[in-house]
Amino acid sequence: DPRLQGISKAIRVVPDFPIPGIMFQDITTLLLDHKAFKDTVDIFVDRYRDMGISVVAGIEARGFVFGPSIALAIGAKFVPLRKPNKLPGEVISEAYVLEYGTDRLEMHVGAIEPGERALVIDDLVATGGTLSAAVRLLERMGAEVVECACVVGLPEVRGQRRLDGKPLYILVEPR
Ligand code: IMP
Repeated sequence: DPRLQGISKAIRVVPDFPIPGIMFQDITTLLLDHKAFKDTVDIFVDRYRDMGISVVAGIEARGFVFGPSIALAIGAKFVPLRKPNKLPGEVISEAYVLEYGTDRLEMHVGAIEPGERALVIDDLVATGGTLSAAVRLLERMGAEVVECACVVGLPEVRGQRRLDGKPLYILVEPR
């Protein structure tokens, strides 16, 4: 797809952020480039519009940038998966392992019905730990996770094209 090169080039790489040694993939520059931003959303929308998906679940915070546009275009609802203690209603929670310590994702109880078909979206997948926690949350609520999708994926995880048995769809690799 010729659009992928433009998407890749629009993502800024910031060395040593947030800590030394990390080459941070910054999608805020993608959002400044109307064509690249629209191409990104369009590619996801074209892929998911006829897959019977009724839920797009976005991971805080950068999954919130892409998820709602995709949800509106494919006729699905948007469900935010948030960091701990942000959601005001009753939640279920899933922990995941970080390089140092753990974190948690939370989802509102009642946001989805059992049997709904869900897409999980985030900006970037590295180890897949965050996406896995998202999949567990949705499955605990009885959803069927059709696929996980990210704009950027490390070559290792991109090569697998799967994550805990779920299909994983990635547009570009880090530069
Ligand atoms: P994982 O759980 O190891 O797959 O890490 C993915 C999570 O870390 C996602 O929520 C990303 O938003 C975030 N993340 C890790 N590295 C980067 C980066 O270089 N740019 C933007 N987000 C990143």
